This record gives sequence, structure tokens and C-alpha cells, in this order.
Amino acid sequence: IYETSDKNLLIQHFKDDATAFNNQKKASIEGKGVLNNRISEHILTSLSHCGIKTHFIKRINMREQIIKKAEIFPIEFIVRNIATGSLTKRLGITEGTQLDQPLLEYCYKNDDLGDPLISKEHIFNFGWATKEEIKIIDKMTKRINDFLIGLFRGVGIKLIDFKIEFGKAWNKEKGETEIVLADEISPDTCRLWDLKTEKKMDKDRFRKDLGNIIEGYQEVARRLGIM
Ligand code: UDP
Repeated sequence: IYETSDKNLLIQHFKDDATAFNNQKKASIEGKGVLNNRISEHILTSLSHCGIKTHFIKRINMREQIIKKAEIFPIEFIVRNIATGSLTKRLGITEGTQLDQPLLEYCYKNDDLGDPLISKEHIFNFGWATKEEIKIIDKMTKRINDFLIGLFRGVGIKLIDFKIEFGKAWNKEKGETEIVLADEISPDTCRLWDLKTEKKMDKDRFRKDLGNIIEGYQEVARRLGIM
């Protein structure tokens, strides 16, 4: 993230760096940043067309976009449609179980602590967000999930789970701050499986050493009509 001459705007630069397991596994995957920049632009733009406020303003080159500066809530909002990953490990739920309804989890954004799972009570008790803010974010998150499930299903992809972040950004027109979707939505932050074969097209290819990482990301971009 870089500052610009406008105090309310930042440049978000997409690197090729990949990390997993709380930074224990690291690599550089050539071309990943370029793909994530395009995929995240496409998704956040589509979301804003259906009324979700986001930090995204415009993509300016292969690796960068202009975004609104936002004060990020120190919370990762995780939405799960199908059980996999840490949920299966934590609660012994069978891998691949279709959840009756989307499951929303909160994690405290803190690398030193390994982003621990928290409850709403922790959020309110420690002042990480107010009840009113969480009410708005929960509602936005459910709408984002509904929209993304449809977007991906339309191109033969199952949205298994994903992580999003929110912040408070200045709305010039309104003259007040508002809650916006921030960060990125890309194969780095979602689990995306082929509808028929269940082939993974996301960061699990890196986490699990499945190979062809970039090909998976390219396939997502191609299906979304970006490439
Ligand atoms: N996720 C993420 N960043 C994180 C943690 C999770 O983007 O720091 C995403 C991850 O890609 C997946 C979902 O959130 O789509 C749920 O991840 P999970 O809790 O299962 O964690 P993992 O198994 O990756 O440790």
C-alpha cells in the first residue's frame, strides 16, 4: 500500500508473494499479482454495481489500483458454504459437507497470535467494532456471499469459502465516513472448486503443493471473462 498526493486515496500494489500457514510457508509465484489485481477489480466492481460500497476506485496498471483509504477493522470475516480447511480440523466436520446455511466466522487480525477465532462478544468487549457496525457488516457479508455464489456458479465454479475485510472510509459526497469492503477478493482469499471435477483453482494449490498454481488462477480469470 502506498500513499498518494490525496490524503484519502492510496495505491494498492499486488505482489507475486505467496504466504501460507501464518507466514511459515513463503514463495513468489510469477504473474500472481497481475491476475489478482484483475480478478479483484472485476469482483469489487461487480459488487459495487449491486450496491455494495467498496474501497475500489480504479485499476491504473497491471499491478496497481487506486483505493479509498480506510481504517480497517482488525477482524477477518470468513464465510463458509462448504466445510473444509480449519473448520474441519477444529470441529471434526467431514471435509466437503454442504452447510445448511452460510457460516460466518470472525478472526482477530493478529499475525503474532495466528489470527485466532473470536466471537462477537470479544469484538464488542475489546472495542474492535461496535454492535451497529457489525450489524451492517454482517448484512453486507451475506449479500456479498449470495452475489459471489451466483457469479462463480455462472462460470462453473463452486464458492467454498472466503475471507473479506472491511474498513471505514471517507465519503466525499456525503461528508461522512462509511463502512466499505476493503482488501481484495481473489483466488488468494477464496476457495474455488470446479463445479464438476472439484479441481481446486485457488491458493490451496500452493498450500497443499498441488502444482499448476498460476494455471488455476488463470482459469478463474478466463472463466470470469477477464482474459
Ligand atoms: N483466508 C484468507 N486469509 C487468512 C485466513 C483465511 O484469505 O488469513 C481464507 C482462505 O483462503 C479460505 C477461507 O478464508 O478461503 C477460510 O480459511 P480457513 O479458516 O479454512 O483457513 P486455512 O485452512 O486456510 O488455514
